[in-house]
Amino acid sequence: MRKFVYSTLLCFSSLCVAQDTYQQPSSDAALQKLMEGNKRFTSGQPLHKNLGLEGLSALKEGQEPFATIIGCSDSRVPPEIIFDQGLGDLFVVRVAGNVVGPIELDSVEYAVDKLHCPLVIVLGHENCGAVKATLLGQENVPELDNIYPLIAPALKKCQAQKGDILMNAVKCNVKEGVGYLKSTPLIAKHIAANRVKVVGGYYDFDHGKVMIIPD
Ligand SMILES: [Zn+2]
Repeated sequence: MRKFVYSTLLCFSSLCVAQDTYQQPSSDAALQKLMEGNKRFTSGQPLHKNLGLEGLSALKEGQEPFATIIGCSDSRVPPEIIFDQGLGDLFVVRVAGNVVGPIELDSVEYAVDKLHCPLVIVLGHENCGAVKATLLGQENVPELDNIYPLIAPALKKCQAQKGDILMNAVKCNVKEGVGYLKSTPLIAKHIAANRVKVVGGYYDFDHGKVMIIPD
């Protein structure tokens, strides 16, 4: 059950809205909760909690998502399923290549500043088509022409890395998104105040496991 306390009213002209009092977990507790959900998913023992109308009804007056996910639009990477979370748990931004541009940033800022979300994770995944297309050259998939410029700079930084080229590129793209978010003034302010953590993750298709990518 959610624990909103509607203690005050915020009024703009004649419109008044309730101000939520949030009881969010710490950033570390939020990350642990997310990873425990992924463990349930990978072990084939999801709880599938809070997915029905009853859960939706409890959220009618507001939301308090404990994690913000910037993930790829890829149909194999649905955050609520791979982290075994329900309605109201995750604030999700999905875009091909899990890129972080101005529009995605606005969504993250809203979640962090207005919803007091204590955790942001940029989530890349195995065999990402958008990252692969960028590696191969944008002429191969011209539909992604607004996304390539957001991925390409990251890939240049990992050209010299050994190992799986695509996996390295996906992780570099994630790190770029994490670094960008951390550098923006509003998110940086919340990080400095210990109110939010921004981390990167990599999701593999063999086991469904999400690994946190070290900074
Ligand atoms: Zn992808």
